[in-house]
Amino acid sequence: MVAQPNGESSASLSSGLDHQSLERFHIWLRPLQQALALEADRGFVNVQGRQDTFHGFMSRELGAPPAGAFPPDCEERLQAFCHEFQSYPSLSDAARRRLVTTVRQWLHALRQRLEPTRPMAPPKLKVATRSTAAAANQQGDLSLDAPLSRVRGIGPKQAERLASLGLLVVRDLLLHYPRDYVDYSALRRIEALVPGETATIVATVRRCHGFTSPRNPNLSIIELQLQDPTGRIKVSRFLAGRRFSNPSYLHGQTRLYPNGATVAVSGLVKDGPYGRSFQDPLIEVMESPQAPLQSKRIGRLLPVYSLTEGLTADRFRSLVEATLPSIRLWPEPLPAQRRQARQLLHRHQAMTAIHRPESSEQLQQARHRLVFDEFLLLQLGLMQRRAALRQRTAPSLKITSDRDGLLSRFLNNLPFQFTNAQTRVLAEIDADLERSEPMARLVQGDVGSGKTVVAVAALLKAIQAGLQGAMMAPTEVLAEQHYRSLCQWLPPLHVTVELLTGSTPLKKRRRLLADVASGACKVLVGTHALLEDPVAFERLGLVVVDEQHRFGVRQRNRLLGKGLQPHLLTMTATPIPRTLALSLHGDLDVSQIDELPPGRTPIMTTMLAGSERDQAYSLIREEVEKGQRAYVVLPLVEESEKMDLRSAVDVHRQLEDEVFPDLKVGLLHGRLPSVDKQAVIQAFAKGETQVLVSTTVVEVGVDVPEASVMMIDHADRFGLAQLHQLRGRVGRGAAASRCLLINDSRNPLARQRLEVLVRSTDGFEIAEMDLRLRGPGQVLGTRQSGLPDLALASLADDGSVLEEAREEAADILRNDPDLIDHSVLRSLLDAQRNRVTSAAQLN
Ligand code: ADP
Ligand code: MG
Repeated sequence: MVAQPNGESSASLSSGLDHQSLERFHIWLRPLQQALALEADRGFVNVQGRQDTFHGFMSRELGAPPAGAFPPDCEERLQAFCHEFQSYPSLSDAARRRLVTTVRQWLHALRQRLEPTRPMAPPKLKVATRSTAAAANQQGDLSLDAPLSRVRGIGPKQAERLASLGLLVVRDLLLHYPRDYVDYSALRRIEALVPGETATIVATVRRCHGFTSPRNPNLSIIELQLQDPTGRIKVSRFLAGRRFSNPSYLHGQTRLYPNGATVAVSGLVKDGPYGRSFQDPLIEVMESPQAPLQSKRIGRLLPVYSLTEGLTADRFRSLVEATLPSIRLWPEPLPAQRRQARQLLHRHQAMTAIHRPESSEQLQQARHRLVFDEFLLLQLGLMQRRAALRQRTAPSLKITSDRDGLLSRFLNNLPFQFTNAQTRVLAEIDADLERSEPMARLVQGDVGSGKTVVAVAALLKAIQAGLQGAMMAPTEVLAEQHYRSLCQWLPPLHVTVELLTGSTPLKKRRRLLADVASGACKVLVGTHALLEDPVAFERLGLVVVDEQHRFGVRQRNRLLGKGLQPHLLTMTATPIPRTLALSLHGDLDVSQIDELPPGRTPIMTTMLAGSERDQAYSLIREEVEKGQRAYVVLPLVEESEKMDLRSAVDVHRQLEDEVFPDLKVGLLHGRLPSVDKQAVIQAFAKGETQVLVSTTVVEVGVDVPEASVMMIDHADRFGLAQLHQLRGRVGRGAAASRCLLINDSRNPLARQRLEVLVRSTDGFEIAEMDLRLRGPGQVLGTRQSGLPDLALASLADDGSVLEEAREEAADILRNDPDLIDHSVLRSLLDAQRNRVTSAAQLN
């Protein structure tokens, strides 16, 4: 046991007390601390000692500190305390308590300051290394596909319970990774224990006794006093049940821990009125401090699995242990050369270590390898799909002569110039369209960045080449919005455009379908209705999908099936973080419109508490008086649409009757028939209503440049990306716009989330935060998002591993496109595809 003064502690030696002065200081301090502790224990009664009262003793001692033992800056404080103790008898109980506490803390701090702490090196502990070989001998070779009932120790009951977790064969159990670890690997000296931390100590038993709780005869307690060179700590073991209160049993228990024995203890450090303690920790009595430990848990990283009823954590751990030998049958998907180049653990090592880590470094490496594999398979799958798509031929949209000059006429007709970003993205799309392989491109751009005009330009290109275009939007409101935009631009160029949604009347629908089939209709705009079977195009050349993250891959493919092999352009105004984009659309090329058209004034965002709604209302009034308009948005949670509908109706009535009786207040919600929705939006656009109360249906597509206030009620209930999207409804005109987020939650996390929006207007940054705070499923906001099944990998944290895996996947496919030489990867991918297909059939 070597004391190791490190750099930090030698700096704190600077108080420079010599040994003798320190000794004098201790002699003075100890009785003071004892007196203070006693007074606190007795409830601040001003304890009467044999010779003195508490307050007399304190004021005398504090007034006469040992000479030379103190830094000069303490003098004043000591005198002040001394003074206060003189009037202690006249103080209230609370004031006494305060004074005693303050002085205790101050003396404690002083002691720490004067007494150089030399942290001791943590104890050493020999954790026995376990060989799988030994276990393998008992178990024999269990194949990865062996049913779990064949694992030693798993009976029919147990197997049934495991099946309820989806664990049927050995492979499943091995892939059932721990959801967390309890880290008992931090070895500490008693002095260095931190309450709330999980740690392991090695110490000597000073005292041990067992007793039955005086208040609860069913509870017995074994109490140990442990000591190491740096201090003491209490350890309690609680035994619940009357059978433990038998005195001879208790006595036997205490004999397990004889005085002077060395024990290793792992557990959570607690802080209580009597100092720090371990309660019900793991304890092992060791033959000697150097002897290796027998316990499989003390001093280790202990895996924690998600469990099912009737299976204890210990039991589950030992079941997993029993199957670990089968890991060596696991095929290694990566050739040694690739593995070494990336410094990846062998798959066997990684799988063993994830269940049974020897250290946190090893766990880190194991996790890295397994995450790498998950991403690698994902990327290989996406890249192969992309390659297959490329092999089909699409109509090349190369235009030899700009016959009708459609595109240039369109661009000339626009009242504005394309931004650099729009020009760049259009060029990227152009290049794709001229190839004979189908385009698969995602355009990401913040709200208002002008994606729609870019899409129109692409559609015109298809039409110029004699083909048709389709534009699909997730909601009717958005489809109608697009339709109106297109009607503004296309008919002047003699290009026909039609709208098809669920509410298109049957008669019109019939005519429309005929026009689409004959090619008379050049551009068809619509919702999911476009996916329905009766819709057949004459020659579909380009499909534009807006807000594509709301569509599943299957829906997308269904639409693609409608054309020869149309080009696909998808757009999203909800930028998603790169990791998510790569995982979901690794089969797409990505373009970014990362620039807003000039002349937009940034939106100012403010967070208000629910009690400050009135402020929001007066701001709305001010804006309306200036000729502007305002949205008031209420949350709409899918599952409780009815309830939210009522709240929108209620708020509408309240605003109309009480808050803005002199203004016109409109109401928009998803339950309105489409015609009524349009009427409400038109009234707001024309200024017939000045305030629009709405559910989130305004999220996409409503474009009213005069709207300059967006008030979002219960903003804490929305996702960040969605709030950002909503905020994008204002700031579309020249006027400076405001966004008011009403936070009704007391949850600090909700506040923290909303602050991201107050701070940032960058959709990418916001999406990253949303991913971090709420997870990918929430960011995408849909169940059929086609999110990959990742057991370990986190899209929020493992971005760099994803990039590595992506590189590796590209490299593998470059050399071996059909994975002939990578048979393990090939069969894993096949298995994955089969799973996806069978899942799809179930849906
Ligand atoms: P997004 O679909 O990306 O949210 P839109 O295409 O709806 O954006 O464009 C938002 C608004 O900006 C529209 O009114 C559009 O006409 C206009 N706009 C688009 N591009 C430009 C530009 N380069 N300069 C000025 N205004 C533009
Ligand atoms: Mg748009």
